[in-house]
Amino acid sequence: MPPSPSQNKSGKLSVVGIGPGGMAQMTGRAVEAIKEAEYVVGNAFYLDQIAPLLPGKEVVRSSMGREVDRAKACIDLARDHRVVMVSGGDPGIYGMASIVLEVLDRAGETVDWEVVPGVTASCAGASLLGSPLSGDHVTLSLSDLLTPWEEIEHRLDLAFQMGVPIVLYNPKSHGRPENLGRALAIAARHLPPETPVGLVRNAYRDGQETATTTLGALAEDDAAVDMRTAVFIGGKETFAMKDGGMLTPRGYGRKYVY
Ligand code: SAH
Repeated sequence: MPPSPSQNKSGKLSVVGIGPGGMAQMTGRAVEAIKEAEYVVGNAFYLDQIAPLLPGKEVVRSSMGREVDRAKACIDLARDHRVVMVSGGDPGIYGMASIVLEVLDRAGETVDWEVVPGVTASCAGASLLGSPLSGDHVTLSLSDLLTPWEEIEHRLDLAFQMGVPIVLYNPKSHGRPENLGRALAIAARHLPPETPVGLVRNAYRDGQETATTTLGALAEDDAAVDMRTAVFIGGKETFAMKDGGMLTPRGYGRKYVY
């Protein structure tokens, strides 16, 4: 953090957002922090995306589902070493920053830390669709690993009432393929079936795919959506562009003639 009196002058823990995929989408600070690191810790999937930066580093490949152990191990290492923990997209949005800081705070640790922001999936995906978010919008995750499903349904219902664009992260997994269908049914209580929907799979990395459809059509068939997809559900004002893009006007049309 904002360098509190760290017990050690050289150790530091950086939780680094590497963006959606390719290195071109990383921030300058993210690249620099990884270059400065002695240890780089992360899932194989993310480490592969930054492979050119890894020669000469101690690379620790970790698996999903052991986030608390990983956070503790990184904090231990960071007392004397420069440690980077990589997180996809932005580390503060469904990423690793919160668990690292929670463990650190509970332990009353004085390790130096920084969180390096990254381009999150909603921004990356939106850029490929056009400008579907534009202003106020909501992001919700359909993963019920850390949030009870009833709470997710409650949030979905409140969010869709606002009529603003909504981005769904973690829309579908093998373990819970029905969550997306349930979310779309909640959306249908508040939005018409012709509401535009954008699907972005693997934004800015191998296997990138984008598609636009409608709420009604996706509710009929959501086979194209998987865990590598972000789902953009339009708001009341969102429309499909003539060339297939997705656009939510910010309201200039109410103020200017163009
Ligand atoms: N911290 C990450 C999100 C992790 S949650 C971020 O800020 O982007 C994982 C979910 O994010 C996936 O299930 C998917 O819905 C979305 N996601 C992450 N990267 C993506 C990408 N490159 N393209 C499309 N969706 C992506």
